[in-house]
Amino acid sequence: MAGEGRSPTGHRVVMFPFPSPSHITPMLQLAGLLRARGLDVTVLHADFNAPDPARHPEFTFVSIRENLPREVVYNADMVEQMIGFNAACEAPFQAALEALLLQEDEPRVCAVVVDGQWYAMLGAAKRAGVPALAMRADGAATFLSMLATPRLRADGYVPIEGIHKLLIENLPFYRCQAWTRSARDLIRVDVSHEETVLRFITLVADAMRASSSGVIVNTFDAIEGPELAKIRAELSRPAFAVGPLHLLSPARVEHGLHAPDRGCLAWLDTHPPRSVLYVSLGSVARIDRAVFEEMARGLAGSGVPFLWVLRPGLLRGGADQAAAPSLEELDNAVGRNGKVVTWAPQREVLAHPSVGGFWTHCGWNSMMETICEGVPVLAQPCFADQTVSARYVTNRWGVGLDVGKVIQRENIANAISNLMAGEDVEARRERARHLKMEANRCAAEGGSASLAVDNLVEYLLSL
Ligand code: UDP
Repeated sequence: MAGEGRSPTGHRVVMFPFPSPSHITPMLQLAGLLRARGLDVTVLHADFNAPDPARHPEFTFVSIRENLPREVVYNADMVEQMIGFNAACEAPFQAALEALLLQEDEPRVCAVVVDGQWYAMLGAAKRAGVPALAMRADGAATFLSMLATPRLRADGYVPIEGIHKLLIENLPFYRCQAWTRSARDLIRVDVSHEETVLRFITLVADAMRASSSGVIVNTFDAIEGPELAKIRAELSRPAFAVGPLHLLSPARVEHGLHAPDRGCLAWLDTHPPRSVLYVSLGSVARIDRAVFEEMARGLAGSGVPFLWVLRPGLLRGGADQAAAPSLEELDNAVGRNGKVVTWAPQREVLAHPSVGGFWTHCGWNSMMETICEGVPVLAQPCFADQTVSARYVTNRWGVGLDVGKVIQRENIANAISNLMAGEDVEARRERARHLKMEANRCAAEGGSASLAVDNLVEYLLSL
């Protein structure tokens, strides 16, 4: 589908999002900013989880027509799946990109922006002769720890404890559990082998060094300034801090999993300021039924009003329907305090004056959204970068509490009470308000994020 209007700069950028909603949304937000600054945007996309072109007439959409093997689509090991996606999409992506280069009556392709998980596409773009930048869907701290991994491995620190120890020396905000094989705050994925995770991280970091012309991160200096500086030093190429993208984005871009239940906003209206805890573990994380039970009892026991997103498929085990809690279970879980929805209009919920806390898995989009609304966090990281972000939100930025390693009803009720009404509540809220102010300052006209987008455009045009 062809995009509307022509590029005043006579250039276009090709973007290739990773096929999951929380990666597609920020990339299309950035696409809108580039379009507003005069670049044409062609979005190459996989047929798997494709974005809806009808919602974005300003861009041109072209499918790469990949053929994903069944064992990739249904691989329960998330990291092996990402490696499989890269392998299956590499050749079709390169062919689609080369076809774009042959279009004579279209603006010149100056660069490709691919999602940070698309390590194979960086090499494919290089072979096609097009400079490529990676756009991270996580924060600078996570990316920094990924960049450090292959160097430490090459230095001979093959034993996993060695890698972690050195990473922790480089990244002082991480905790190391010396008596176990792992560091609690480093990237981990429970459903993947640690070696597979390390292989994936190494593939990403190596491709960044070998084939990228820079990196784009949805973050800002006030929360990750030193990390951004270290990334620039590590890569010796530009790192553009364009966050918080959703504040900068000219249009509201969201590729959610489900239609949001807006009725919960009226329910929030009936509550006093900062009294409600919003609970959501994002679009991917899954929990065991036992964890669900403890969360439900802990929420009910806390006495704090809560709005809980129980999306279909959140509970592990069997088909979604079989794993879904029964109505009776939900009634018991909700008690008199709560409201349950399958999907919430999260940004509006976080902006609602009644919301005083966010129990979250610490996905990066959720982190940016809660920081921008000044809502303190109860952190329950589930996998990947969430462990890093949880550590930052609690210890680096001081706007959150850890729900605790053991998800158990009494601990949860205590953690909720501490977050919403504990002795540090005012200090935490004050820090959250401060970060909100910084985020808004950064996203305002002439702020560092819009300057970073200007610089990015200038850089793309120079390539
Ligand atoms: N989200 C939403 N409604 C919900 C739950 C989540 O709109 O009920 C959105 C949320 O605003 C965020 C995204 O889904 O933009 C989740 O992204 P995140 O990076 O936080 O987590 P992931 O889904 O990748 O684990």
